Amino acid sequence: MIVNLSSVLSEPHQPLRVTVDWKDDEIVAFGGHFPLRGPFVTEIQVTYDGGHDVSVSGKGSFKAEIPCDRCLEPVEKEMFLDFQKKVTVSKDGGKGTEDSDEINYIEGYNFDVEQLICNELLVGWPMKILCSDNCRGICNVCGQNLNEGVCDCESTGLDPRMSVIQDVFKNFKEV
Ligand SMILES: [Zn+2]
Ligand SMILES: [Zn+2]
Repeated sequence: MIVNLSSVLSEPHQPLRVTVDWKDDEIVAFGGHFPLRGPFVTEIQVTYDGGHDVSVSGKGSFKAEIPCDRCLEPVEKEMFLDFQKKVTVSKDGGKGTEDSDEINYIEGYNFDVEQLICNELLVGWPMKILCSDNCRGICNVCGQNLNEGVCDCESTGLDPRMSVIQDVFKNFKEV
């Protein structure tokens, strides 16, 4: 959704309120597609600060399906958005006044609301996703989900420390 900011700058007393309705959608991040489980509503408010400065704030929550780090099963994760930013708007685009980060969601007076929300979601993206604290992951030989059952590889799988000992034996033989 593109919102034109020129009305905020010309009618300073009128904050701009935007409500974004998200249906089932997806987030593209870190080379993957993560389905969103909606619907969600995100409230964005743009307030005039004088000159060419505006404050952009937003609140909302999302549920995204992210694969478990160990077993890759999708985990539904709720993420919250709550941000406030100060932006200087000009014909050339937006510029952050507080932090020097590149602003990719304002071009001229056009404000790309979804882009900003995506940025904020990525900032708050969970570092670690586990379906449960004691997830057993998948077998790295056959790919069996070890939460659902064991496979035969487990008993024959070599402990890396064992292979070092095997190498020692091999060298010993060759001498
Ligand atoms: Zn898991
Ligand atoms: Zn296996």
